[in-house]
Amino acid sequence: MSTTWHVLGAGSLGMLWATRLARAGLPVRLVLRNEQRLQAYQAAGGLTLVEQGQARHYPVPGQTADAPEPIKRLLLACKAYDAEAAVASVAHRLSADSELILLQNGLGSQDAVANRVPLARCISASSTEGAFRDGDWRVVFAGHGYTWLGDPAHPVAPVWLDDLTAAGIPHEWTADILTRLWRKLALNCAINPLTVLHHCKNGGLQAHHCEVATLCAELTDLLERCGQPMAAEDLQPEVERVIQATAANYSSMYQDVANGRRTEISYLLGHACKVAERHRLALPHLEQVRQRLIAHLHNLGLPGD
Ligand code: NAP
Repeated sequence: MSTTWHVLGAGSLGMLWATRLARAGLPVRLVLRNEQRLQAYQAAGGLTLVEQGQARHYPVPGQTADAPEPIKRLLLACKAYDAEAAVASVAHRLSADSELILLQNGLGSQDAVANRVPLARCISASSTEGAFRDGDWRVVFAGHGYTWLGDPAHPVAPVWLDDLTAAGIPHEWTADILTRLWRKLALNCAINPLTVLHHCKNGGLQAHHCEVATLCAELTDLLERCGQPMAAEDLQPEVERVIQATAANYSSMYQDVANGRRTEISYLLGHACKVAERHRLALPHLEQVRQRLIAHLHNLGLPGD
């Protein structure tokens, strides 16, 4: 019998994973925030995945953190700032042979989660798939991509990667997941905050070439100093390529701010600045961008963390 996938968080990525796993006939349970959300979900009767304009319904069973059965495999699909509390809410259902897959962007939340549940195996993920909610319990699969998974503490791949293959979730196991997470964080730090501060699409940063280059130089110093030289390699040319290739897009941080949603700043730019401080590395431009961004968020009435 397959191990049940408990998916915590019925947001964009949680629904995208839950529906595809369920479609492959795998056992899935959706863990919802509270009884009220569970009742609303049960009234809707399941999740809807919209793919290439076609909507399909999947009656994935829901539950709250208080459900009695143990959790052997947990896909943590909330935002980085919710991860620690979300895991704490189900910690009593986890054991030494539980495995957690952490979908959070940025860095910092993975360690916070691992410290909360030191016995469980924590696998980090970095995904380029794109999805958004266009209604309650409905997700639109917006961009095909890839998910890299890895466990810095334990390089052996888990057997359940077969479930991902069965579900058609493109993935790869990597021993270098930290390099991937750091590289993605650096790309994010060089692009996303500036799109918010300059109020522009990614392509608008072509007009701020010097500012981008200065941030890339500081980020390269940081990655080299904190033992991530591979993540530092040719950072600036890649940032420029991403800006060009995604010129017509608004960054995820821009979209969060535009929609009045909390950003994951503490796990991206905030994490970079914190690690720099720990290494006694002065990164004046990055720190200045962080402070400008926090002031901007506060002005809009949004949290600065
Ligand atoms: P999202 O749409 O905001 O979904 C997060 C979900 O987690 C929300 O439904 C939230 O519930 C739920 N949640 C939070 N705390 C919970 C708790 N204690 N118990 C139960 N549910 C809880 O976020 P997302 O876009 O899927 O992003 C998840 C992570 O993946 C982020 O770190 C993001 O940066 C990363 N990521 C996203 C994408 C994408 O395309 N969406 C791509 C790559 C990476 P409420 O609605 O009740 O708050």
